[in-house]
Amino acid sequence: MTTIIIKGEKIWTSTALQSNKMLLIARTKREDETARPIDGLSLFYTDLNRDHVEIRPIDKMGRKCVDSNQLFIDDLPVPKEDLIGEEGKGFRYLLHGLNAERILISASMVGLGRCALKRAAEYARDRVVFGRPIGMNQAIQHPLAQSWAELEAANLMAFRAAGLYDSGKECGLEANGAKYLAAEAAFKSCTNAVMTHGGMGYAKEFHVERYLRECLIHRLAPISPQLILSYLAERALDLPKSY
Ligand SMILES: Cc1cc2nc3c(=O)[nH]c(=O)nc-3n(C[C@H](O)[C@H](O)[C@H](O)COP(=O)(O)OP(=O)(O)OC[C@H]3O[C@@H](n4cnc5c(N)ncnc54)[C@H](O)[C@@H]3O)c2cc1C
Repeated sequence: MTTIIIKGEKIWTSTALQSNKMLLIARTKREDETARPIDGLSLFYTDLNRDHVEIRPIDKMGRKCVDSNQLFIDDLPVPKEDLIGEEGKGFRYLLHGLNAERILISASMVGLGRCALKRAAEYARDRVVFGRPIGMNQAIQHPLAQSWAELEAANLMAFRAAGLYDSGKECGLEANGAKYLAAEAAFKSCTNAVMTHGGMGYAKEFHVERYLRECLIHRLAPISPQLILSYLAERALDLPKSY
């Protein structure tokens, strides 16, 4: 291989508008010529050459500090020096980073959830309705307390996964479990924070509407809750693969 020509499409490519380089995975061997479908994919670090790559930004609900794009790659020449590692092993290299990313996202979701709860508790202490702070009512307290417990449990799972990862041990179940628990707990915390603020939860001034919007991205990416549950069912409970 001296130069190879790559064609294809990729949706949800972050920061392409600012980038001169990209990490690109492409099939370099036909699937029917490999032992497993994950083989035959190669990883490249190559120029994002706009003569051969069309970038279309996606307008989206949050995460506005980072652009998200659709990429259309048309006969992009990639020199062989741009190959990372061995040809055909690209997907295996990518897998290596997935658990670390899940753990990182778990921690960020715990942080976002805590932040939402802090603002909700402050508001509940300050806001007086019918002569007393709304935070004196158990119907306000209990959802926030439940979210606190769920976030702290998710945090413990994230630290368990991080400990295994740092000691070089298998942590797929814990990393996925932590990402699932943390994203769901953060979503519930942010929703509870908006509801605690009543109408003002909908006003930008109190920030919690933004937290609710921003937590959704990590509920569904880089892996959705449904796909995590399928993975856990298969790997933790030895149930048959469902997809
Ligand atoms: C803002 C943003 C930034 C992103 N950034 C990146 C990035 O930088 N790099 C990157 O590679 N990707 C990125 N993504 C992509 C993201 O990882 C995917 O959108 C996400 O994993 C979901 O995949 P999908 O959109 O293909 O959903 P689909 O596969 O179309 O699924 C749609 C829904 O159906 C459910 N579903 C699908 N199959 C099953 C099944 N068998 N059983 C039960 N439920 C099922 C899914 O869980 C999901 O809820 C980004 C996405 C967003 C929104």
